[in-house]
Amino acid sequence: MTILSSPIGADYRPATAAAIQALADSGVPVHLPGTEAYAALTGTSNLLKAISPVAVVAARGADDISGTLRLAATAGVQVAVQGTGHGATETMQDAILVSTTALDEVTIHADERWARIGAGVKWAAVLAACGPHGLAGLAGSSPDVGVVGYLTGGGLGPVARTHGLASDTVRAFELVTGDGEFRRVTAASHPDLFWGLRGGKGSLGIVTAVEIDLVDQPEIYAGALWFAAADAAAVIRTWSQWCELLPEEGTTSIAVMRLPDLPIFPEPLRATMSVSVRFAWTGDPAVGEEMIRAIRSVAAPLIDTVQAMPYSSLGDVHSDPVEPMPLHEHHSLLHSFGADGAERLLELVGPDAQTAQAMVEVRQLGGKVRDDRGVPSAFPHRDAAYSLFTIGVMIPEIAQVVTADTARVHGGLADWALTGGLPNFTDTAGPQWVERVFPPEVARRLQMLSLVYDPDAVLLGARGLRS
Ligand SMILES: Cc1cc2nc3c(=O)[nH]c(=O)nc-3n(C[C@H](O)[C@H](O)[C@H](O)COP(=O)(O)OP(=O)(O)OC[C@H]3O[C@@H](n4cnc5c(N)ncnc54)[C@H](O)[C@@H]3O)c2cc1C
Repeated sequence: MTILSSPIGADYRPATAAAIQALADSGVPVHLPGTEAYAALTGTSNLLKAISPVAVVAARGADDISGTLRLAATAGVQVAVQGTGHGATETMQDAILVSTTALDEVTIHADERWARIGAGVKWAAVLAACGPHGLAGLAGSSPDVGVVGYLTGGGLGPVARTHGLASDTVRAFELVTGDGEFRRVTAASHPDLFWGLRGGKGSLGIVTAVEIDLVDQPEIYAGALWFAAADAAAVIRTWSQWCELLPEEGTTSIAVMRLPDLPIFPEPLRATMSVSVRFAWTGDPAVGEEMIRAIRSVAAPLIDTVQAMPYSSLGDVHSDPVEPMPLHEHHSLLHSFGADGAERLLELVGPDAQTAQAMVEVRQLGGKVRDDRGVPSAFPHRDAAYSLFTIGVMIPEIAQVVTADTARVHGGLADWALTGGLPNFTDTAGPQWVERVFPPEVARRLQMLSLVYDPDAVLLGARGLRS
């Protein structure tokens, strides 16, 4: 049976065309450019990161992925992986893309507090399935993000200071490594891969399913306080001191916003500057209310959504827009912030500053993020105190200044910065990703694993390790 959605382009390298034809002939669903399925499976949420692989394999399971990796290795073609397209960074034009969207299993083992999740599943489905049991998976700020893409990069969510990194909750990965072998990986069975898959993203294999521990967290006291530009200085100054006092039950970030005039944003926030304090409290809601009072009392918020809510509504804390937009994103890590950092942030992006950033977020880390539970992983920089993340919208009026302005903002906070970045927040494009993200000893260990498990360097995700 041949499942090939359209004829192979005449411009393909003969070896590439032969590999795609052989895959299709073996019954693997392969979609080529120009078809609806190809368009649907290659969508990306950042319109600047459009991808154009030579073909898309709509994987139905490990066998399809294994066959793809083996044939691609023979043909000298690289293989990429995508679930949602939220983390796309490479154009992939010479690679075959494995799409995991069909791997949609979500099984909750409520009594034993763990879940088995297919590689194509988004956090929204896990939150919904866990909610009725009062259990929680450690999702990130947006439930639209894929579980596996997020977990392989560490996974730093709105309750991270209480419950730690999501990747530290992994019990097992099932994956096809670059050599085409299917493996079930646990801390006991393959300590080396188990270490590398938690932080190394798609550099060692294509995950088909993951099993994670769930935590007891039926509710949180959480949401966001949005303030007007006139109150920005007071709010940022107070936040910078308040968060240093916050116990581990609280996780917070502050975001200076200049949102475009689009109907997806609430009216008082459109086409104006605002400041959002995000807060999630995992302990007693009454204590959480007491904790946030110091921020609430700085000024009257434009919007106040902080309240007791089911954990499954976690996405309401950040309310990240997920509509496709052309975005320029950049990330740094900070060793401290404090009162001096707040003053510098105000100089750089406060109400009197000229900036092209739609969002400048300072996220407090620390707490349980530092704790690897005695099972080390490739996730780097656990000791960083804050993450700085900027997003500029590349609309025609400001596109040319966004890049320079990004350098100005991150450069302006250089005195607070650490070398390195977090795997999920750092653009993985190009061969330098590993150098940008990992300390040299972590990079070398990942390189060694890549040589063992992906001898032909067939995984596009390993390009930073093998160049
Ligand atoms: C709106 C938004 C909010 C976010 N918030 C947070 C946050 O709070 N905390 C945080 O830590 N991150 C956050 N992120 C970053 C996000 O975790 C990464 O971009 C992640 O890579 C997205 O995974 P995905 O599966 O949705 O994307 P995809 O585009 O499907 O995949 C991105 C990458 O993940 C890896 N990957 C995906 N599937 C597999 C697989 N089956 N096997 C092996 N590797 C795979 C690959 O390296 C792939 O290139 C956010 C991103 C967005 C867009």
